[in-house]
Amino acid sequence: MAQKGILAVVSGFSGAGKGTLMKALLASHPEQYALSISATTRSPRAGEEHGREYFFLSKEEFEGLIAQDALIEYARYVGNYYGTPRAYVLEQMAAGKDVILEIEIQGALKVKERFPDTLLLFVTPPSAAELERRLRSRGTETEDVIRGRLCRAAEEAACMDRYDYILVNDDLDICVKEMHDLIQSQHRSTSGSQELIDAIKAELNNTYSSVLQK
Ligand code: 5GP
Repeated sequence: MAQKGILAVVSGFSGAGKGTLMKALLASHPEQYALSISATTRSPRAGEEHGREYFFLSKEEFEGLIAQDALIEYARYVGNYYGTPRAYVLEQMAAGKDVILEIEIQGALKVKERFPDTLLLFVTPPSAAELERRLRSRGTETEDVIRGRLCRAAEEAACMDRYDYILVNDDLDICVKEMHDLIQSQHRSTSGSQELIDAIKAELNNTYSSVLQK
């Protein structure tokens, strides 16, 4: 029987390189993973497309999704709403795909509360100075937005230890491999292997308990 997919949440400071990491992970194992596309009220950046990076919605449209309970979680981040549409995630997991949510910390913790088997991964650059350098080198944000993101990073650092694993994104290829290995090892966790455990227990009991009783 096809094994149910793993739900993995990837968070990290804005500028940690999560987007590049996700693209590389999906490109290296296209059959294995499905990346959830979030809804947001922020405006598209240059080169972003509706339905590819995000579903770009008005505040009213987003609040409509909240009212319909169509989101697994949502949060406000630097003045905008961001949320994970429920239907796609559940369908893909049922089809055996490992689903990745690239979301911020408040959302990650809500997902873990709701689905305790979720694997929480936190991606960080090797240092705070490197984080600032990467944020500035994007060249797409105003100074205010960069400062907002650095302040937010300082707040988020307080919650890093609530995650299951920390991934240092220094060398992209190494980081992709580490992420893949961590997610795949989750298929071997006891909670993910409950059917196998039950079958082995039942078989051992049926076959051997009568032998021991003799
Ligand atoms: P950005 O505006 O840079 O694309 O994303 C800002 C932050 O929002 C990032 O930390 C990103 O991971 C997070 N984010 C993206 N989608 C979601 C979502 O569906 N839910 C939550 N809680 N955070 C999200």
